[in-house]
Amino acid sequence: MKKTKIIATVGPATESEEQLIALYRAGVNIIRFNFSHANYEVARTIMGRIRKLNSEGKTNLSALLDTKGPEIRTGDLETKIQFEKGDSMKIYTDISKFKNDGMSLFCDYTSLIEDVNIGQIVRIDSGLFDVEVSEKTSDYIHVVALNSCLIGSRRHVNLPGVHLRLPGITNQDKKDVLFAIEEGYDFIAMSFVRNRSNVEELRTLLAEKNASHIKIISKIENQEGIENLDEIIEASDGIMVARGDLGIEVPIEKLPVYQRDIVTKSMAHGKFVIVATHLLETMIENPFPTRAEVSDIFNCVRQKADCTMLSGETTIGKYPIKAVEMMTAVINEAETTMMYQHEDFSNDGLCIRDIEKKHLIKNALVTSESLDVRAVLIFTKSGRLARFAAAFRPNKEVYAFTMKECSLRYMNALFGIRPMLLPKWSENLEENLDNAISFLKDYKILSKGDRIVAVNDIQKEWKEIPVMEIITIE
Ligand code: PEP
Repeated sequence: MKKTKIIATVGPATESEEQLIALYRAGVNIIRFNFSHANYEVARTIMGRIRKLNSEGKTNLSALLDTKGPEIRTGDLETKIQFEKGDSMKIYTDISKFKNDGMSLFCDYTSLIEDVNIGQIVRIDSGLFDVEVSEKTSDYIHVVALNSCLIGSRRHVNLPGVHLRLPGITNQDKKDVLFAIEEGYDFIAMSFVRNRSNVEELRTLLAEKNASHIKIISKIENQEGIENLDEIIEASDGIMVARGDLGIEVPIEKLPVYQRDIVTKSMAHGKFVIVATHLLETMIENPFPTRAEVSDIFNCVRQKADCTMLSGETTIGKYPIKAVEMMTAVINEAETTMMYQHEDFSNDGLCIRDIEKKHLIKNALVTSESLDVRAVLIFTKSGRLARFAAAFRPNKEVYAFTMKECSLRYMNALFGIRPMLLPKWSENLEENLDNAISFLKDYKILSKGDRIVAVNDIQKEWKEIPVMEIITIE
């Protein structure tokens, strides 16, 4: 069983019950809803299916809502405009002054004129159309087209290197977050996170709505996110390398460097990390990937990401299940080449008790390898212990037992963790260990003679003491 988790974006190609089951069987752990495009009614129906399948035991799928974020777009056009390289045009920021004259565009970022400099590149339509600022006036910027392109209405605009004056959470995002709470999503991926306070704003909103169990994933997708990476990681539960936008916002040759840095830093903070976008892009149309795509997934695993993510491949692709099967096959192969070193990670935000447990977990993982045990068992109410185990990148399978459904779903994002809902959670912690072993024996995961390492708490004079046990199954 692979240790690296897979996130698949749901769409018309995968939204039926049958396809959701097929995604799960092919190796998907988390279903992503992209709220740049989603519609509440459709999302509600799919969420209903996921909850039903999970409750019937047919799947264990978590749900992630990816916000639209504070995007910048061009305006509506009467007809598409064909711009040629060298064309000069105007970009207006005041809709009342904008002239739909076939040589002008509107941009909804009101600070555009103030924030760009002469010579600045403005990237329109997700990097397909680049223009250079040649002049600024009080009503518009004058730009020169650097390539030819046909431009339609409401195209994405990126302003590489500009410190944007946009809200952390837009009003639309707030509505979507409330929807996520109502519908029982497990993760919110926050688009265009630029600093710690963006993350804290979302955390406060979740706390006000009694939804602190929802984990926050910060998407790093521009230069400012890169500059403030450490503080963003500290404030977040997980990080996404959003290569789609990041590849437009930074020089493309820097993208692999940033990917490596984001993955390494997230691990150093003990936070889970996702690599997203274009991992199997050609499988949207073709049943077989390119050699480069296979190497890309292989490298993500070698870099030790917790999760890899599929977007168009599973939303509108012709081969969604094949794409997941391919990803699983490459992950499995890559993982056979790994020996994890259990590197330490930051104690930031951890109490003394957590730090003690963290070290106990590390020792359990080392022991599990020296003694060649079958599995490591841990018990965790919130999933925090599983986070520690995952951050050390275990070589052996770690079965993490909990009594909380939200913790079970959180652990779906964590490297090497097999989340398990313990049917009977007891306040007598030793009883939980017996129940967990019986459960794994019933499912033929453990059998007589197998050795396991368990990290559990025992009660001693009203105190809970964390202990590690080495047990041979009878
Ligand atoms: C990305 O930019 O890589 C990404 C995952 O975000 P979105 O799909 O919202 O553009």
